[in-house]
Amino acid sequence: MTSRDRLTLYQDQGVQLLLGRFVKGEIVELVPSFDLGQTARYPEVEEVVDGDTAAAKQLVEKLWDVGIFKRKFHEKILVCPSCLSANVSNDYVCPNCNSIDIERKTLLEHTACGTIDSVDNFLVEGGLYCPKCNKELIEAGVDYQKLGAWFQCSQCGKRSDLPSPIHRCRSCGHIFTIKDTGFVNVYSYRISADAEEEFKRTFLVMKPIGAMLEDFQYKVEMPGQVSGRSGALHRFDAVASKGSSELVVLDVIASEREIEETPIASLYAKVFDVGPTQTILVAIPGLTEKAKKLSSLYRIHVIEASDSQQAADLLKGHFGWTGLSGNEESIDDLQL
Ligand SMILES: [Zn+2]
Ligand SMILES: [Zn+2]
Ligand SMILES: [Zn+2]
Repeated sequence: MTSRDRLTLYQDQGVQLLLGRFVKGEIVELVPSFDLGQTARYPEVEEVVDGDTAAAKQLVEKLWDVGIFKRKFHEKILVCPSCLSANVSNDYVCPNCNSIDIERKTLLEHTACGTIDSVDNFLVEGGLYCPKCNKELIEAGVDYQKLGAWFQCSQCGKRSDLPSPIHRCRSCGHIFTIKDTGFVNVYSYRISADAEEEFKRTFLVMKPIGAMLEDFQYKVEMPGQVSGRSGALHRFDAVASKGSSELVVLDVIASEREIEETPIASLYAKVFDVGPTQTILVAIPGLTEKAKKLSSLYRIHVIEASDSQQAADLLKGHFGWTGLSGNEESIDDLQL
C-alpha cells in the first residue's frame, strides 16, 4: 500500500474523526469486544461509520492494510468452519453413541461410617443423607468426600470418565470437533507513529491553511504535485492555482526547535525546477537566522508561526496585501 492510499483515507471524514481522537489522546488503543454475531466489534470505530458494525470492521482492516494502524494479537475466536459464526456451543457427548444426553454422577464417601455410593443415593429432599447411617452430610471435605465423577449416557446407558467434546454451530447447526474448527484472530489496534505524524501534517496542520487559500479563490490540492521543467514530479504540502497564470506552492516544516538551512535548500531545489509564481514556507515554530537569510536569497516567503491556525492567519494577511496590489482589481477598474 502506498502513501497515496493513506492520503485518500485521510480525506475521509470518518477517518478524520477517528484519527483526530487518537491525536487528541482520547483513544490510545482500539480494544475489540467479543460479539456473538460479529465475532469482534470496535465501538469507537462504529461511532464514525453511523453505527455500522461490519463497516467499522472493514475500516479497521483497511487502516491496518495501508499502514495507518499497527496491530497486536488480542484473542483467538473459535468459529464454525461452515458459516464462520462465533455463536458456537461447547458440548460433551457420549463416546459410545454421540448423544448429548449425558449426566454427571459423583461418588461420595461418608467419612463417619465409610459408606461409598453415588450422590443420587445420598440425595433426600434437597439434602444429603447417608443411605446407611441416615446422618446428614453437611460440609464437603469435612464430614464427607467427593471421590470422583463419571458420566452416564441416558440414551445407551454406558458410563465414561471423559465424554467427547464437540462444537455445535447455533447459526447453521453444523457439528464439528477441534480437528476442523475455524479460528479467527482478533487484534487490538493503535495508530502508528509515522501515520500520526503524516495525518497531523496532511490534515490537521494543512486544514486551516487550505481553507484560507480557498477563501482567496485558489484551487487547492493538499498535498499537490507539479511537474518541473526537468519532467520530474515534485510534491508540495499545498499547491494552489488560479487559472493558468498563478501557481503558489507551499510547504510546512514543523519541528521542536528552530529550523536550519537544509530543508530550505531542498525546497529551493524543487522550486527551481517548477518555477511557481510564489513559494511559501510555513515554519513551525520558526527558522534560524542563517535559514532566514537563505530563504530571502531564494525568494521564499517565510511564515513563522507557533501552529497552523496562526500560520493561516498570517497567510491571510500576506494574501490580503498581495491581493490589494494585484492585477485583477485594476483590470476590473478598467472595465468600469
Ligand atoms: Zn455455522
Ligand atoms: Zn450413549
Ligand atoms: Zn453413614
